Amino acid sequence: MNEPTKYSTRPVVLPGAVDAWLLEGTPAPRCKVCAALAVQRSEAHARNDWAAACAAAKEIRNHGRGHGEAAQ
Ligand SMILES: [Zn+2]
Repeated sequence: MNEPTKYSTRPVVLPGAVDAWLLEGTPAPRCKVCAALAVQRSEAHARNDWAAACAAAKEIRNHGRGHGEAAQ
């Protein structure tokens, strides 16, 4: 009674499976907001929390204006 091998279809999230651009975003130098987001991103990255890492990266990208304006 051989049963065919069943492969489970559990979602496997590998680092390579995440679109790299989702994690991209260059924090502007001397911008505290960008710096904080970059820390968030790397921390999320370290614990394999891709959703949080992508969210932080997105915020960095969206922080294209107003870097450090308040500190000017
Ligand atoms: Zn910024």
